Amino acid sequence: MKLAQVIVDVPSMQTDQPFSYLIPPHLAVEIGMRVEVGFGPRHVQGFVVGFDSAPAQLPNNLKPIIRVLDLAPVLNQELLALADYMKETTFAFKVTCLQTMLPSVMKADYQKRLYLVADDPVVRTNYFGEADSLSWEEAEAQGWLKELAVLRDQGIVELRYEVHTKNKIKTERYIKRLFKPEKVQELKAGLRKNSYKQEQLLDDLAKLADEELVAVKQLKADYSTANLNQAEKKGWLTFVAVETYRDPYAERTIQQTSALKLNAEQKKAYEEISRASAEKNHRVFLLEGVTGSGKTEVYLQVIQDTLANGQTAMMLVPEISLTPQMATRFKARFGSEVAVLHSGLSQGEKYDEWRKLERGEAHVVVGARSAIFAPLKNLGAIIIDEEHETSYKQEESPRYHARDLAIWRGKYHHCPVVLGSATPSLESRARGQKGVYQLLKLTRRANTQAKLPTVEIVDMREEMQRRLNSSFSENLEEKLRDRLIKGEQSVLLLNRRGYSSFVMCRDCGFVLPCPNCDISLTLHMDTKTMRCHYCGHEEGIPHRCPNCGKDKIRYFGTGTEKVQEELAQLIPEARVLRMDVDTTRRKGAHEKILTAFGERKADILLGTQMIAKGLDFPNVTLVGVLNADTALNLPDFRASERTFQLLTQVSGRAGRGDKAGEVVIQTFNPEHYTIKLAQHHDYERFFKQEMQIRHQTDYPPYYYTVKVTVSHQEEMRAAQKAFQLAKQLQQQLSSQSILLGPTPGAILRIKNRYYYQLIIKYKNEPKLQATLTDILQVSQKDQRQGLLIAIDNEPMYFI
Ligand code: ADP
Ligand code: ZN
Repeated sequence: MKLAQVIVDVPSMQTDQPFSYLIPPHLAVEIGMRVEVGFGPRHVQGFVVGFDSAPAQLPNNLKPIIRVLDLAPVLNQELLALADYMKETTFAFKVTCLQTMLPSVMKADYQKRLYLVADDPVVRTNYFGEADSLSWEEAEAQGWLKELAVLRDQGIVELRYEVHTKNKIKTERYIKRLFKPEKVQELKAGLRKNSYKQEQLLDDLAKLADEELVAVKQLKADYSTANLNQAEKKGWLTFVAVETYRDPYAERTIQQTSALKLNAEQKKAYEEISRASAEKNHRVFLLEGVTGSGKTEVYLQVIQDTLANGQTAMMLVPEISLTPQMATRFKARFGSEVAVLHSGLSQGEKYDEWRKLERGEAHVVVGARSAIFAPLKNLGAIIIDEEHETSYKQEESPRYHARDLAIWRGKYHHCPVVLGSATPSLESRARGQKGVYQLLKLTRRANTQAKLPTVEIVDMREEMQRRLNSSFSENLEEKLRDRLIKGEQSVLLLNRRGYSSFVMCRDCGFVLPCPNCDISLTLHMDTKTMRCHYCGHEEGIPHRCPNCGKDKIRYFGTGTEKVQEELAQLIPEARVLRMDVDTTRRKGAHEKILTAFGERKADILLGTQMIAKGLDFPNVTLVGVLNADTALNLPDFRASERTFQLLTQVSGRAGRGDKAGEVVIQTFNPEHYTIKLAQHHDYERFFKQEMQIRHQTDYPPYYYTVKVTVSHQEEMRAAQKAFQLAKQLQQQLSSQSILLGPTPGAILRIKNRYYYQLIIKYKNEPKLQATLTDILQVSQKDQRQGLLIAIDNEPMYFI
């Protein structure tokens, strides 16, 4: 007799361990399957993570598994082991890790139901009728909840939570012929006169082979639903439901491409990586290649080899911004071998792509962060493009970094991992220096006509004196006009990080704050509202100052909408497309904008960070950066690194075709080394200089970091706990480690909770894991009083 070890969907410290359940003989339970089990008064979803032999004397509180939710395991041994690793390194609950690995539609959805437990005939006739249970929604709709609550206290009715399983598989209707083709004439003879449609349908059906299926969709042009239903009634045909995939690329024809002849640098990189793959050698490569150097072509050819060897491959790209063009490039090369996973897909589409990978029907995944969990077997290569991107780190629990998990999976499969970037993270580049990663370089653009663009710096301090309050320098305006005349295109970047548009009273200086968070509300022109970017609070735009009552309320800060208006006044003849969070909220909007720009339906693409990455438009010859330094002065040690990366990335959009490209960077800090080195595309010098600063200030890559955040609805409680933790850490960690804080969070209050944080910097701290686990365990008690502690291993943001 075996018992199943089940991780239950109750994310808390007390329940963060497997629980034993009996396996009823009629259930086929396997490791990696989802099951429904009783937990306290509730039914919850659980994951089977192992088996145990039952003790001779079964404990009498042992419960059976109620139901199996999968026909086959949804997590294999590798992914279960990966969940263990993730739990250990992110301090997250095991169940959170397991759920994160699966498409979101597979997350449990709970239903409340009321059961009649003591058969009371009056209650039965009044509330339950023939059934012995009642959905919560129905009871609520009937206004019975109060009465039923009394019955519940008397033990007559019981409330249960049950796992609700949605049918997530999409089916399509097909038809199949039921009569013998020889019988056509006979059937026709039985019809009334002038039944042309019926006759035509009989003829068409007769032409089908036996058992052949035809999609109802295809018949729509010739026959109405009524025609087909009638035919079914007469026994001519039957409807068959066939499982189908929702394919977001079905409507598109993608031109097939084949491998390009690689240049010498590309060839060397490709050969090294491909050899490691063929030899089943786990190594990490850092492919440092300037923008447009043909990194993607190297990835494509490596993957081609892995497929030829009967292996699979994984290609991660940062968030949605990159996906449309990138996904198309992969589809163009590998067709239906490719499954695409990114946040722009519907839940159903994602689930279908996931199943293609799971069933081995697709062997390549192209996707954003969570594609690292793709259920691929026999991996031959894992590639992370733009490896420096912060979106590879998940900001909520489990706070994993896709790069770390990629390396774990690479080890498991004995396959190479490729980290690609024009501007590697300092951490990765330093590992390249030490030989932990093998460094491969591409130093020039692959298209021999294309040169790296020339970059000009405009000092906005001077410019502001001449052109009051304009977002555009004279220089940039002139160049924009010049492109317009030549019929070439421009990209304008408005750096939004550390920046927002708010309304301020010109008279008293009052700024409209969020009632729930310590931050000002941001103006949104499209909905004509003020919105909080942290909690979602929304209110109307005030006409009078709520503080002094005067009507001197004005907009401040530079939003993309405001720049667009400015541009319309400055160069009214220019056709401008805007791309920011507001214009890309709807599904597919992102891609539509890019397609329109690619088809030259606009002269200027104006946008935020999301236009900086990956776009490859040969007709773009000018890139303007309106405000290079808003992020440069943020109190975060990665501020320079991020600014350098952004400027390099966006500059890389210029001059990708045969025509030379130009970049104009507008800045208030023209002397800053970050701006100057970005001007000269000099990543290597930036790396050296920045490393010196990190060394002097004891920051990564010289130190590892952990952020501990404490929050509570009362500021005092959060602060107290933070100071108490600081003391405990000081006592338990070695003297080598450095503790920063506690400090209030950069935004002290979010959603009515106060935040305090501590940063631990360490080089070698064997006791850290145990100490942090201990802190979390002890904080269980505090949790009931509303105190929350979060641990972020290698945080991306320090403010
Ligand atoms: P990266 O990923 O490094 O930014 P891409 O792979 O997008 O660079 O390549 C930039 C451009 O150069 C693309 O248009 C691509 O088709 C072209 N390209 C890449 N490799 C070659 C090659 N070996 N010969 C000719 N053109 C190439
Ligand atoms: Zn808010």
